[in-house]
Amino acid sequence: MLRRLRQVMADGGARQERLDKIVTLIAASMNTAVCSVYLRRGRDGLELCATEGLNPQAVHQTILHIGEGLVGDIAQHKRPLNLADAPSHPRFAYRPETGEDPFLSFVGVPVLRGGDVTGVLVVQNAEKRNFADQEVEALQTVAMVLAEMLSASGEETADDGADPDAPRLFKGRGLTEGLAMGHVVLHEPRVEVTRLISDDADEEDARLSAAIYKLRRNVDDLLATEDVSHAGEHLQVLEAYRMFANDRGWLRRMRDAIGTGLTAEAAVERVNNAMRARLGGRRDAYLRDRLHDFEDLSNRLLRILSGRAELASQDKLPRDAILLARTMGPAELLDYDRKKLRGLILEESALGAHVAIVARALNLPMLGDARGIVNAARDGQEVILDTDGDEAHLNPPSDIVEAYSNRARLRAKRMQRYARIKHLPAVTRDGTEIRLDKNAGLMVDVETLGDSGAENIGLFRTELQFMVSARLPRQSEQAELYRAVLDRVGERDVVFRTLDVGGDKVLPFLRMAGEENPAMGWRATRMALDRPALVRVQLRALLRAAAGRKLSLMFPLITTLEEFIQSREMLFAERDRLAGFGHHMPEKIEIGAMLEVPALVFQLDRLLPELDFLSVGTNDLMQFFFAADRGNPQTSDRYDFLSLAAMRLLAQVREICDAHDVPVSICGELGGRPLEAMALLGLGYRRFSLPSASIGPVKRTVRSVNTQKLSAAIAEVMETGRSDLRPLIREIADAQGVRL
Ligand code: PEP
Ligand code: MG
Repeated sequence: MLRRLRQVMADGGARQERLDKIVTLIAASMNTAVCSVYLRRGRDGLELCATEGLNPQAVHQTILHIGEGLVGDIAQHKRPLNLADAPSHPRFAYRPETGEDPFLSFVGVPVLRGGDVTGVLVVQNAEKRNFADQEVEALQTVAMVLAEMLSASGEETADDGADPDAPRLFKGRGLTEGLAMGHVVLHEPRVEVTRLISDDADEEDARLSAAIYKLRRNVDDLLATEDVSHAGEHLQVLEAYRMFANDRGWLRRMRDAIGTGLTAEAAVERVNNAMRARLGGRRDAYLRDRLHDFEDLSNRLLRILSGRAELASQDKLPRDAILLARTMGPAELLDYDRKKLRGLILEESALGAHVAIVARALNLPMLGDARGIVNAARDGQEVILDTDGDEAHLNPPSDIVEAYSNRARLRAKRMQRYARIKHLPAVTRDGTEIRLDKNAGLMVDVETLGDSGAENIGLFRTELQFMVSARLPRQSEQAELYRAVLDRVGERDVVFRTLDVGGDKVLPFLRMAGEENPAMGWRATRMALDRPALVRVQLRALLRAAAGRKLSLMFPLITTLEEFIQSREMLFAERDRLAGFGHHMPEKIEIGAMLEVPALVFQLDRLLPELDFLSVGTNDLMQFFFAADRGNPQTSDRYDFLSLAAMRLLAQVREICDAHDVPVSICGELGGRPLEAMALLGLGYRRFSLPSASIGPVKRTVRSVNTQKLSAAIAEVMETGRSDLRPLIREIADAQGVRL
């Protein structure tokens, strides 16, 4: 039947003529009295476009809504219906014009393309009996071939969503600042299946087996310690891949599809479509994730079958590439040539995720949480990424392009404004000096220090070197980086943070046990104290790199005073050991702790006398304070820092630090947003370490603030008894003429 179907399409002729031939052919081949094709019409309609067996007058007259009748139900739920007695089904909607009264048995299957329903294919018979599973399978296969053929010949009905070049808008969340216009580059290119019908089932079966074998090997390789770095993917995802790759049911379903006459590629697609139809509408985040994993794996299998490269080809990148991916690790992003990248759009990812941090370091506009865009986009399509509006326009029409071009010009002006104040001091109107440092972790961040308008590096995330490298960096390599950083900053300060691994910071080469709550798990200083080897090597590298100079370092995720003391002892032990070997040591060592765990707030009175400085890591502190995962878009924005609870917490921290005369700075992303920075100034904070792109905007805010007036106003709103202080704080900004 498939081959004859192909012949009908190849013969050409008018669209209606071909559809008529197709339904006749299917009815004859499946031995049914009726075969009908309904195709999408507009957003919500399904139009009877051809029929064999029903009243021909009803063609183009009968239109059902999605969800209406059996046909609408199939489209709505994207799944087949196999009924012995259709009229008795509660969703049956009688349409007299079709004359379908005598037909009791019914099978309908969705015509799916890229997960979208483009129509419904139905066969019916008079006698009351269920169709066999193989018949349903066969009809699904025909539906798939039909979908591909209709789309290849541009004959899908006028469903706006189905046209791949139609303009589409995707909502997401701006994770770094910026506006970008460019062309789509799919990080993992999708394979379009063009050859659907096989000439030789045995050969297709053999091709599938060989590809599955290769896929399993690939996944095993990815999981093997050395090679995980190439993928930069999370281990859990890979474990899920391995599970799917070895799933017998999956292989069997693909083999069955080959048995119905499809090529290996089409069989992969067919099973993927069925899975998507089953799970696509589910709300359950876990199931959705598994579906994504499954789709990724199907795509990998397709790439193996078609001999396509695993990842986007770097040398063919356009000069204005906007990368699209479901998720991406920081190392993968760094593999691309920054000069050709304009932006990054991910379907998942939140503000604190490390790929976002790398994107920020690269000053790359990035949108996260843009669901559905990867499936909808094709390589080379035009795309506009707007982090202010939290959206991406795919195939934008000319008026949108025009509007954005204007905005891009305005933005460039704003950037010029920041550039003009960049080298002016960060002093408030009433003469308070504010220290604005920047966060870094890669050499690119350090190189731009002079130009960023920041004074120093207030947080150097040492784990980034580990995260982006394929294997554990040797002591000499670590020391080389630290030395280069110190050389580069010269007279300025840099605060190195010791390794913060675990949680969302996955080291590709370090196998870690799966934890139920990794962010609260065995990470950072906890790991360093239990398994000191890694951090000892790092401390040695830091001490040697800072020979004859000042070394500032801090320990992450300190939870108790004792953890700090032990960490410091470890440092001193390394210092004494190296000195014993005659190594030249730093002339001064300043030691700080990061406040990221709420419990530490209640030990500050004991901790502060031991410290040279305290750095508040609001990214972690807030996630623990509010019990809201910073990496999960559903929770990361749920609780507002500009609420009474968080403001009180930070007010208290600042007061205790002042009482102990210990410098305190804010180094989380929070301080990088002007309104939040203003609130922190109002709470008395005077030191910030910010993402690079925030220096300009925050400096502008700082220079427009009167700290005394501001502190009084902030104290006042905290007394109002309201929980949500954001609107009131915004009013302060307006009333005091603060520039945001
Ligand atoms: C923080 O938690 O606020 C912080 C600065 O550290 P990181 O974002 O690297 O966890
Ligand atoms: Mg942290």
